[in-house]
Amino acid sequence: MIGEKTSKIFPVSLLGAQHPAKNESDELVLKGIPSSPGIAFGKAFVLKPEVLIIPNIQIPPEKIPNEIERLESGLQAMINEIQTALDKVKSESQNISAILETNLLILNDEYILNSIRERIKNCFSAESAVIQEYDNQIKFFKNSMDNILQERSYELEHLRDKLLANIRKKITSYKIPENSIIVAQAITPTDVVNFKESKVKGIITEAGGIASHSSLLARSFEIPSVIGVRDALKLIKRKDCVLIDGYAGLITINPCDESKKLFEERISKESSHKRELGELIKLPSITLDGVPIKLLANIDSPDDVKSAILVDSDGIGLVRTENLVMSLKRFPDEEEQFTWYKEIADRAYPNPVVLRAFDIGSDKYLEGLPHLEKNPALGFRGIRFLLHREDIFSNQLRAFLRASANKNLKIMLPMISTISEIEQSKAILEKCKNELREKDIPFDINVPLGIMIETPSAALLADRFAEVVDFFSIGTNDLTQYTLAVDRSNELVTDLYDTFHPSVLKLIKGIVDAAKSRKIPVSICGELAGHAAATNFLVGIGIDELSVPPVILLELKKRIRELKFKKAKKTAKDIISSSSSSDLMKLLEII
Ligand code: PEP
Ligand code: MG
Repeated sequence: MIGEKTSKIFPVSLLGAQHPAKNESDELVLKGIPSSPGIAFGKAFVLKPEVLIIPNIQIPPEKIPNEIERLESGLQAMINEIQTALDKVKSESQNISAILETNLLILNDEYILNSIRERIKNCFSAESAVIQEYDNQIKFFKNSMDNILQERSYELEHLRDKLLANIRKKITSYKIPENSIIVAQAITPTDVVNFKESKVKGIITEAGGIASHSSLLARSFEIPSVIGVRDALKLIKRKDCVLIDGYAGLITINPCDESKKLFEERISKESSHKRELGELIKLPSITLDGVPIKLLANIDSPDDVKSAILVDSDGIGLVRTENLVMSLKRFPDEEEQFTWYKEIADRAYPNPVVLRAFDIGSDKYLEGLPHLEKNPALGFRGIRFLLHREDIFSNQLRAFLRASANKNLKIMLPMISTISEIEQSKAILEKCKNELREKDIPFDINVPLGIMIETPSAALLADRFAEVVDFFSIGTNDLTQYTLAVDRSNELVTDLYDTFHPSVLKLIKGIVDAAKSRKIPVSICGELAGHAAATNFLVGIGIDELSVPPVILLELKKRIRELKFKKAKKTAKDIISSSSSSDLMKLLEII
């Protein structure tokens, strides 16, 4: 078995090249990209892709009405399928429903549908017409400079294939046996909802991106998943016994007895571990030697506050407000924003809430705003966009201020790289405060203003920035991307995206020191905050707060309660002074 040592962590960078490894038994180990953490064990349920249909089958004119009818009934069947999935997830978070609604919007797109109908009227079969039109759209997305749009092209491919299967009435009403591990070329978000209902244990796909909607759903439903597994459909047969490790991205087919035993031990540890976590809810987040670390939650919508409360978080450390823009597909007005922010503030009260101003641009690209850029991660993003669109920024700041009347809100600026960006923002905030004063609208006059530290320039000048703001929150996702010059959403360089790179750790330590010397609070809200291998280091360098997705908050609390600050401080010192990557990994207990 390969990769056992790395299985408790996520960085793909440590896992070497992708290749099947065979040992003396029939056991075969494949490696892919870990896309939803967790481990599971079950029988393979292989979903064979549709046989390719030739895209230019002609039909005689008298068959046109029949083909139109086949299109409409296939389409309706597929819409019904998604609608049923939507009903199933109604009680889950808004984000999950939004993903399925996006699929419905694509299917119902009148432009695409009319063009398919036109092609049928020009004597092409329903299938050929669908392929021609969808492939046109797919080509457009694939050629986009924007990675997220490129990723959406896979989603269109999956929708196309599903629609074709529906037209041919090939939507096999197969029953997936409980505890199966799905093996597929690709899957749609609707499939993931159905898998959850069928109590599927794991998902393996040949295609797919880590940021795709299907991966996102698998993570929300806590179904372990590994994507990008080359030749999975060729190598895994129906009913093969499969072990899936969604932490390390490893698949073991027909494991030998020893591998099975090891895996069973890990699964049973994982489930007793989950039980233990429940008992931690009411216990304080404090190290063995009495150092408290605040644990906050990262959320995307008012609905998510519920999950933060369930794990008794100390507040909300990051609200990604751009999600509101993306779900509406336009910028909301001040009133709409006020209602949304106020709901979050009220639900979390009296705990604090950090509202981040819209981080529009780059991977959070919103169609049409801003226009396509050649290098969006280095372009018109976050604070740069907001300062350019003062109207949008002021609307948001006024809504923030109005929602702050109960004094549990903080405002945070994204993507800061210069002092002048902070000064300009402060001036706009002051203007907004005056406008509200003139109208006698109440707000917190001392609402704290903080910044994300997520660019190397902000990290290197943190001591100066600390003089002009009230708090820092370190965005390790972007800090890693910009420090290592590795695009965080580009699959081709996933292996180089290493949040544990010594340069990134050194910058984090510098930011924390700068905040400490100026006595302002500093937290981390990037993925590193919740990473098992990072807790020792982060506590050791003196971080005050960590903000993570609610689902992993208790895991983090458990690790904090098991460590000693004094020892962590020494380890952090050794980590910062270690010059070799292997020393560093040993200290982080990655190897
Ligand atoms: C980050 O960059 O670490 C961060 C928390 O912000 P986002 O992931 O939303 O860019
Ligand atoms: Mg960021």
